[in-house]
Amino acid sequence: MTVLLQVEHLAASYGPVQAVRDVSLTVADNEVVAIIGPNGAGKTTLLSALAGLVAAAGTITFAGRHIDGIAPENVVRLGMSLVPERRQLFGSMSVRDNLLLGAYHRFGSETGDAIEHDIHAVLELFGVLNGRAGHRAGTLSGGMQQMLAIGRGLMARPRLLLMDEPLLGLAPLVIKEIMRTLRELRSRGQSILIVEQNAKAALAIADRAYVMEGGRVVLAGKAAELAEDPRVKAAYLGGHLEER
Ligand code: ATP
Repeated sequence: MTVLLQVEHLAASYGPVQAVRDVSLTVADNEVVAIIGPNGAGKTTLLSALAGLVAAAGTITFAGRHIDGIAPENVVRLGMSLVPERRQLFGSMSVRDNLLLGAYHRFGSETGDAIEHDIHAVLELFGVLNGRAGHRAGTLSGGMQQMLAIGRGLMARPRLLLMDEPLLGLAPLVIKEIMRTLRELRSRGQSILIVEQNAKAALAIADRAYVMEGGRVVLAGKAAELAEDPRVKAAYLGGHLEER
């Protein structure tokens, strides 16, 4: 198993608020890793630090290179792209143009054909987006917008896809559809680090998981084992969450 991402002793603060404290974790090639935990646990801050969007102390090694402190666009170039919380699409732009933006760093070095091929593949992957390439992103349903945001992340051809709460606020049927897509990506060998409050869904899709509380990792292990852990069951698997 080749380690793709290694995070050691990561810490990040907003002024006096220490959001992430001494977090260490790994993601291997072809692995899906979940981070679960309550609101305010520091999950988004951790992903933002990995993406180069928030300054952090500690060490981040990606594909054998130290990447802490490098600019967000260079993180993408090295092979890590973020699907941000609440999607952050360009609502007045078309589906197609939003997807193209995900591939901006490929423009100089790859042919238009390669990028067109990937746009086609993303539209195929999310069947409901097929035929909607010309639609304005802001007119899509929440579920379709989430699919588009994931598609935009994939357009970077990432070695590691970072996903922040991709199931947030979505209806059960849409959650099912996104889970189907995540399983498909996983079967293709896509490495994913997913942050999710929907612990049941996250543990169903992941190989391994970390539980964060108060900025720290408080539990870690195989996802299937964590799903059976009484502490996880009591705190995060109340049974009201839709999945499977
Ligand atoms: P959520 O699921 O609500 O996004 P989270 O686990 O992702 O929660 P973070 O968003 O990383 O947690 O927040 C961790 C802590 O940092 C919280 O105490 C939060 O209030 C604080 N925080 C997050 N963003 C900022 C900010 N821009 N400025 C100041 N404090 C922040």
